[in-house]
Amino acid sequence: MIVVMKVGTPEVEVNRVCAELETWGLSPEKIVGKHKVVLGLVGETAELDPYRIEEVSPWIESVLRVEQPFKRASRTYRQNEASEIKVPTPNGDVYFGEGHPLVITAGPCSVENEEMIIEVAMRVKAAGAHFLRGGAYKPRTSPYAFQGHGESALSLLAAARTASGLGIITEVMDTPDIDKIAEVADVLQVGARNMQNFSLLKQIGKQNKPVLLKRGMSATIEDWLMAAEYILAAGNPNVILCERGVRTFDRQYTRNTLDISCVPVLRKLTHLPIMIDPSHGTGWSDYVPSMCLASIAAGTDSLMIEVHPNPKKALSDGPQSLTPDQFDQLMKEINVMAKVVGRSSEKPVAIA
Ligand code: PEP
Ligand code: MN
Repeated sequence: MIVVMKVGTPEVEVNRVCAELETWGLSPEKIVGKHKVVLGLVGETAELDPYRIEEVSPWIESVLRVEQPFKRASRTYRQNEASEIKVPTPNGDVYFGEGHPLVITAGPCSVENEEMIIEVAMRVKAAGAHFLRGGAYKPRTSPYAFQGHGESALSLLAAARTASGLGIITEVMDTPDIDKIAEVADVLQVGARNMQNFSLLKQIGKQNKPVLLKRGMSATIEDWLMAAEYILAAGNPNVILCERGVRTFDRQYTRNTLDISCVPVLRKLTHLPIMIDPSHGTGWSDYVPSMCLASIAAGTDSLMIEVHPNPKKALSDGPQSLTPDQFDQLMKEINVMAKVVGRSSEKPVAIA
């Protein structure tokens, strides 16, 4: 349920309404939007009479029920206003969200050694990326496959951050690793396989770094938003949703089926920023450029692209990784497309 306060409601009145609702056993959450203040009420609200709440203050504009099972993640919860997630990086603040320029995240599937991670960081930075994404802890289908260098790779990511000024995104697979990863990473990734690891979601929701929540490979959009709800409910409002392809019947020509239609669907349902990962979504580097452009056209807020200096020798996900040269070319195309849809960071060119 949400309580929408009228424009210009004095703060003391908002606080008085909160205090009154607390005496009813509720925990109102104050959401300060660009135009209005909204109070979110989550919990045992089924029996509450909206008219009784309206009587608490003449400054209450309306009281609405959030119909969906995901409450904090729903678009209604923020009065239809998209959330923006600010991530401070050495190169400056980067914003994820509907009203902001497209954000590009790139890097190798796994951090393999210092030389390669610094090389990729410098190359993707020069091409215009905002974040370096590289795995230290890797969720692999086979226990015999390369599992990531773990803690030692975290210090290599820290070195790449210093060298390039890029923000760092890396995956957390296990609850005890959260704190040490959060010391290095600017955004914590929860991978597809852990999307419904509820104890991990609860713990990651208790720390302050933004979270990139990948869609489970068989997750419905509702499952995914309910997973985001766990993080939001634990106190972390900064969740980015990342589509990375879902399982369908064809595994011969594509690794997964990239669900670009999730962009408009999510836009309708949630205020959270959206990222598309065409690398895992298709599994083949040949298909990454066209899917990047299609995702921008569909309205994504950001992209994740795997880049490796020598994909043939990659320790994981080589076939879907672009070379730095291919990434340079793709960034040129991405910039053109971003301009077309008004999501470019460059100022629009004035037409005489
Ligand atoms: C990854 O991002 O490298 C990864 C393992 O992705 P996913 O969890 O989507 O499979
Ligand atoms: Mn990968």
